[in-house]
Amino acid sequence: MRTLLDKLGRPLRDLRISVTDRCNFRCTYCMPKEIFGKDFPYLEKAHIMTFEEIDRLVGIFTRLGVKKVRLTGGEPLLRKNLSELVSMLSIRDLEIALTTNGVLLPRYAPALSAAGLDRVTVSLDAIDEGTFASITDSGHTVAAVLAGIEAAESVGLGPIKINTVVKRNVNENEILDLISRFSSRDIAVRFIEYMDVGSTNGWKMDDVVPAREILQIVGPVKSIEPSSPSDVAKMYRMEGGGQVGVISSVTEPFCGSCSRARISADGRLFPCLFSNSGLDLLSPLRQGAEDEFLEEEISRFWTSRTDRYSEVRTDSNNNGNKIEMSYIGG
Ligand code: SAM
Ligand code: SF4
Ligand code: SF4
Repeated sequence: MRTLLDKLGRPLRDLRISVTDRCNFRCTYCMPKEIFGKDFPYLEKAHIMTFEEIDRLVGIFTRLGVKKVRLTGGEPLLRKNLSELVSMLSIRDLEIALTTNGVLLPRYAPALSAAGLDRVTVSLDAIDEGTFASITDSGHTVAAVLAGIEAAESVGLGPIKINTVVKRNVNENEILDLISRFSSRDIAVRFIEYMDVGSTNGWKMDDVVPAREILQIVGPVKSIEPSSPSDVAKMYRMEGGGQVGVISSVTEPFCGSCSRARISADGRLFPCLFSNSGLDLLSPLRQGAEDEFLEEEISRFWTSRTDRYSEVRTDSNNNGNKIEMSYIGG
């Protein structure tokens, strides 16, 4: 196995794979309904990587140092027979994780667990049904997400992590309710600063609730040593017990330890969540390229990586045509 370092000395360790650009939610900060309607040009099936193609790429990435794969999207549980992909990947020396909005977990968690999925992160932005409905804009309920969390726990996919994007004047007042709902159950809630990903959500700095303000709302906490240098969440122990995390992507960026590459559902490799172009891996793969060729392409790509968007965010680089989160994979 090789260790690839980019231009800033960061190894390639984590791979996020988007298995679909579609979703059954329309979170206003990610896939606003007015833009992601039925006429939106979603990827065509023929352009989406098959499980065999994903598995072959993952095999190459593991030889280049990747230790962890996260399946994401869009909503990854919309991808038919996803447990078959998990089963294919599970024979590799890898941790396999999934990020989901949770509502399809009651249906799929047993098969995913049996196939070898290691862990699940569930996104949940509110406990209050009205607030949740106004954010997710899709007719799904908090109760359905909670049922998904229960289902995942009951088949051994815990400890579950909860991801909550905090947006100013939308859900700061959900922070304490989310914590009290989960802290007694060994489920950590990680609060994420709202990011300027893509160009359809109308992001403004004023909408960001800084991590330090989130921690003030949480109350007294003690910092916990990170378990890995590439952890994106800073974790804290709360006075009354339980853990809470903050992901301060905007106000205290962590590009210096970013070891994550992303592959979109149509097989493009991106070095950063904020990249606007990627390396097409699917075309050469479909044209019969050998593994050695793809390995060299990926190595060249990673070793020339200089991305650190969040550390150099300015008004001018924050404009323009950035790729959407639902495409690149969150
Ligand atoms: N659909 C799945 C879900 O929601 O968990 C997986 C994909 S979603 C794009 C992955 C994560 O990205 C979710 O936790 C979501 O809340 C987060 N996300 C989406 N847009 C975001 C933004 N503008 N800022 C911060 N986080 C965002
Ligand atoms: Fe779908 Fe996840 Fe984006 Fe919400 S955050 S619209 S659930 S992809
Ligand atoms: Fe990594 Fe790009 Fe996010 Fe920085 S901005 S942490 S380089 S994905």
